[in-house]
Amino acid sequence: MPEKKPHRLPTTVLPERYEIRLTPDLAAATFAGEERVSIQVLEPVRQIVLNAAELEIQAVSATSADGTLIKGAVTLDADNEQATLSFPELMTPGQRELQIKFSGILNDKLHGFYRSIYKDADGREKPLASTQFESTDARRAFPCWDEPAFKAVFQVTLVVDDGLTAISNARVIRETFLPQSGKKEVVFADSMKMSTYLVAFIVGEFEGTAPVMVGSAPLRVWSVPGKKHLGKFSQEIGKFSLEHFSGYYGIAYPGDKLDFIAIPDFASGAMENLGAITFRETALLVDEKKATRSELERVADVVSHENAHMWFGDLVTMKWWNGLWLNEAFATFMEMLAVDAWKPEWRRWDSFTISRAAAMQVDGLKSTRPIEFPVEKPEEAAGMFDVLTYEKGASVLRMLEQYLGADAFRDGIRLYLRRHEYANAETTDLWDALEESTKEPARALMDTWIFQAGYPLISAEKNGKELALSQRIFRYLQDSDVPDRSWHVPVFVRAGIKGEIINKTVLLTERQMRVELPQPVDWAVANAGGHGFYRVRYSSDLAAALKEGLQNRLSPVERFNLVNDAWATTLAGLTSLTDYLGLIDLFRNETDLNVWTTQIISWHHLHRIFDETQDRSFQKRIRNILTAPVQHFGWSPREGETDLDRQLRGELINALGTVANDAACQNRARELYAQYEKDPDSVERNLVPALVSIVAHIGAAADYEKFHAKFKNAQTPQEETRYLFALAVFRHQDLIDRTLQMTVSGEVRTQNAPYLMRSLLLNKEAREKAWLFMKARWEEMLRQYPDNSIPRMCDGIIGLVTRELEREVQDFFARHPVKQGAKQIEQHLERLRIAVACKERWKDLLRG
Ligand SMILES: [Zn+2]
Repeated sequence: MPEKKPHRLPTTVLPERYEIRLTPDLAAATFAGEERVSIQVLEPVRQIVLNAAELEIQAVSATSADGTLIKGAVTLDADNEQATLSFPELMTPGQRELQIKFSGILNDKLHGFYRSIYKDADGREKPLASTQFESTDARRAFPCWDEPAFKAVFQVTLVVDDGLTAISNARVIRETFLPQSGKKEVVFADSMKMSTYLVAFIVGEFEGTAPVMVGSAPLRVWSVPGKKHLGKFSQEIGKFSLEHFSGYYGIAYPGDKLDFIAIPDFASGAMENLGAITFRETALLVDEKKATRSELERVADVVSHENAHMWFGDLVTMKWWNGLWLNEAFATFMEMLAVDAWKPEWRRWDSFTISRAAAMQVDGLKSTRPIEFPVEKPEEAAGMFDVLTYEKGASVLRMLEQYLGADAFRDGIRLYLRRHEYANAETTDLWDALEESTKEPARALMDTWIFQAGYPLISAEKNGKELALSQRIFRYLQDSDVPDRSWHVPVFVRAGIKGEIINKTVLLTERQMRVELPQPVDWAVANAGGHGFYRVRYSSDLAAALKEGLQNRLSPVERFNLVNDAWATTLAGLTSLTDYLGLIDLFRNETDLNVWTTQIISWHHLHRIFDETQDRSFQKRIRNILTAPVQHFGWSPREGETDLDRQLRGELINALGTVANDAACQNRARELYAQYEKDPDSVERNLVPALVSIVAHIGAAADYEKFHAKFKNAQTPQEETRYLFALAVFRHQDLIDRTLQMTVSGEVRTQNAPYLMRSLLLNKEAREKAWLFMKARWEEMLRQYPDNSIPRMCDGIIGLVTRELEREVQDFFARHPVKQGAKQIEQHLERLRIAVACKERWKDLLRG
């Protein structure tokens, strides 16, 4: 007997083509629907089981073998989100048509077919309707075989109020005015054969840009009225990346048009619906003249990521949700590739080290998970959208690409896509294609990274003419039950021998190996280029040689890794905090943005751990470190500097004014902010976020009012977000109370409110209040916020670094499990435990 899986659908009947007609009523927040589904009956059945949730089904019928219509009856299974259609006579194998009449609600939970409300230019509230189906919410909009392997063609018709715009996956073939109802009927062309989670319908008062052509497909950006001018930048990177990908994949874009649509309420960053990609506004709409470099980069990233999915995910789709990582890891990898090709000066692969480091942070936990693991229930699929799927997945693909060579890797990808287009594939199919095209053992290598949690710490030691490498698992918690694991590790070595540089790549498959070099090395890097998903510990002579030549022997990414690995081993108790602080003292002349970013992240972490006395001497210490670089970069742009330099200036000043608490810097920031208010163009735009953050850090009620008003009347989505999150940085207790109230009062969109709560938990002066508030309003938050945001909000608990709070937090989550994010909650709790352990380990330090 095969194992019974009540969530899964039988495969006795396959859908081939859906004709879906929907009539949404935006004011009443409901919709009426009808569908005809051409199906292939494979085995004689009396019952057809498909998915439906929160739908009412009014009538069902099916054609019999002779073409007559037979009425069916429906039973709904709410737990498994299924509808069983029963027919009085046996349906024999062959082609049939199913007809279903149904109705549903436009919910406010930002999934399924949902309603979003925004204010128009006159301050009037306006509704629009959008969809978000991934992973398992198409079933809330129409009865369907809502599993990725049931691919079919979709022909959509939307009946909407005249004057509204209706968008779906394919181009419009006909619009007809219906005099009886005063509505119009918008008929869309057939989609390609695809999975249900990629279907989309969007209805509202939208304004679109003029199209740009990508091959024969017009590409447009849509937004609610008044924001059309903010779509130019994303249209540019949209065209560039779509063309870049069709070249890379060797396959033309598979849709007949491409719309990017900004939705005011959106649970994630964006969604790769074929031909109709939906975004949250900050990820699509941007003012190129006012936005910072990192805000522009975010738009470029998200647009490229979604475009990459048109092939990887949409054209070729995972068989089941356990394979989600391949979609997401690959799209993340491709997003870097496209943005790097578009703006090489942003050095996108260098800043990817920040993402890689975030993945390594989670993957060094006992509570981590393998990238791919068995998934059954919808909430388990929902729990996979995390840093391990996206960032670790993309990191190990990058490692593989660098090991195999970029062209060989691309050829394997092309083969994989051609072989599985319009169909589904599993992880193993990718390794087949890569092995065929490269003749390298990709599977054996990658299996250790995909099906095994964690990553190794590589020790590198100089031994005469040899470099001795060994591996063991890296863990923050040094428990007794650390598992014995090893990986197939591509080790990228670069060594200096008497002024010459030698590069060598080896595959470490055993515990240890010796790399023979022509002569004893003067220095060596064991993760050259920084592509490896591992940490390195150097023997003391090798470490000393690298510290001696920080700026001339190591690239920026390698310096980043040196700092980041040292910080990780410090948290793990393998390196002393004194040694770590000694190391970062050597970076006063550093000019790379990412190397600074990783240090500053560690400072915030230390700030949350230290008590007041320790914090005072720590602040003094980092003020000291920051003096030279802030002087070097100054407060205004210098001739010939890059966008990255400008961003770095902002980051350094921000750190000096907040975590280092420097009074002179705070005064200067306040003055400059006042000047910015009078004349926005007089301040370099990349510096503005730092000024806002410092003013909030030292600010009082008057500043709060001002920022609150700026949030309400923002001119761009980026400005709105900047001022909203600044409200969580204020330290006065009354102001903290006000921001806390905003998280549940309805004043902040539910797409942002959970993240505002997270920021409050991470604010040292607000954290205890925020924790009490979150506990008290927990049920309300679960009701209001999108499901996927709950575990992300709870990430803020890592800020509650005291023994007492930790106990409370453990206790609370034991009593209030988060079903769609059990793993992530476990990980936050472990990170908190590590921070509390560090607090105890370091309690006597920095007291002098
Ligand atoms: Zn994605």
